[in-house]
Amino acid sequence: TVSIALFTQDLRLHDNPVLRAALASAEEVVPLFVLDESVEATGFAVPNRAAFLAGCLADLDAGLRARGGRLVVRRGEAVAETARLAALTGAAEVHVAAGVSAFAQRRETRLREALGGRLRVHDAVLTALAPGAVVPAGKDHYAVFTPYLRAWQRAERRGPVAAPRTVRVPAGVEGVAVPATAASSPGLAEGGESVGRRLWQRWSVDRYEELHDDLAGDGTSRLSPYLHFGCLSATELAHLAGQRGGAGAEAFVRQLVWRDFHHQVLAARPECARADYRPRNDGWHRDTAELDAWKAGRTGYPIVDAGMRQLAHEGWMHNRARLLTASFLAKTLYQDWRAGAAHFLSLLVDGDIANNQLNWQWVAGTGTDTRPNRVLNPLAQARRFDPDGAYVRRWVPELAHVPGSAVHRPWLLDRRPDYPGPIVDLAVGRFQQGRGH
Ligand code: FAD
Repeated sequence: TVSIALFTQDLRLHDNPVLRAALASAEEVVPLFVLDESVEATGFAVPNRAAFLAGCLADLDAGLRARGGRLVVRRGEAVAETARLAALTGAAEVHVAAGVSAFAQRRETRLREALGGRLRVHDAVLTALAPGAVVPAGKDHYAVFTPYLRAWQRAERRGPVAAPRTVRVPAGVEGVAVPATAASSPGLAEGGESVGRRLWQRWSVDRYEELHDDLAGDGTSRLSPYLHFGCLSATELAHLAGQRGGAGAEAFVRQLVWRDFHHQVLAARPECARADYRPRNDGWHRDTAELDAWKAGRTGYPIVDAGMRQLAHEGWMHNRARLLTASFLAKTLYQDWRAGAAHFLSLLVDGDIANNQLNWQWVAGTGTDTRPNRVLNPLAQARRFDPDGAYVRRWVPELAHVPGSAVHRPWLLDRRPDYPGPIVDLAVGRFQQGRGH
């Protein structure tokens, strides 16, 4: 007998209930990944994520080979290719992780149409808690984080499952090679479960609580791309952190819960990838030159520009920098969050519909923030989270010679550096004007 394990955003051997169930159901398994042309058509498969994905697939293939199997990569459309392989191998079952985005939900519906009772969909593979596993009375999702966090902590969650020892793949199943893709960011992280596991082992969660907001300290885990592609499982990380215990571990798990939180919002409201979760505005300010300056890291506010340049260079940005650069666009410049979110998605290696779109909405005040009117002042943010200016000096070479916190106000320097002046006066930030629309 043969089963198919269709990999999507669960590109791992450890704690993978999809692979595990497929192996338990048949003597031979086709570990399948489809390079989906319909994803490519949406523009979501940008160079940074395509390059990282290639690393994930190579590593998954190596891990499967070490267990006697291999990864079968096909190109085409996921549902059609899966159905074709199911017919070719006579597969009795096809296993896949439940997804949350509109795209994943449609794919699942179409897989069910094509495969009927042979499809097995597994919950809580991409998140630690499945969307909908906890809901407030009479509702289909939590709209506020803190009650969700409490429900999450009380909920029954599955434990991690072990990696398989052996994998037998039927003969005669052809695949294609994964095309090499050049990343657009020179400092991009390398994809794959092995790299992700190594990063986790080298990193310590113990000081996470004190260090996570220190921009220059760069003390967060940097595991987000590995979580996005499922090289690491949120269930396993929450479990390991829980075993470790302490304030750092607790704060880290809380961030994993934020991830689950946004996923359960998107699963219930997939249209919020574009539509406002809580409509509040019909009059965003439009100014292409300002938007371009923000994208290029040339707003004249060094802390904002440092974040945007880190994004361009690494395809990744520190969470505190994401918050303050997004607030600068959506609140201070009062530009439509969708333009900012699209720019982030064009570069972020962890670019994720749930986490990116809903964090943007949170910052823009159209999402789940219970204080939607808060504005992050870049100078106050700089003072708190980059007090010595080291983060700015690292990412804005024009200012690398400016010592200490003076780097945050280059317009006050005697000798003006070759660096733009502020594109907007914070006192007349447009958010106040825009309110009331
Ligand atoms: P850590 O601090 O080590 O946290 C551990 C993990 O928790 C992260 O890897 C991530 O999976 C999760 N996490 C942490 N913070 C959040 C959060 N606020 N929301 C959801 N999950 C969280 N994260 C993405 O994974 N993809 C995105 O596309 C994305 N876009 C964002 C856009 C904006 C405007 C903002 C404000 C945040 C965005 N985030 C996104 C959330 C967060 O910034 C990143 O997850 C985090 O910076 C990744 O770094 P890390 O792995 O070192 O995080």
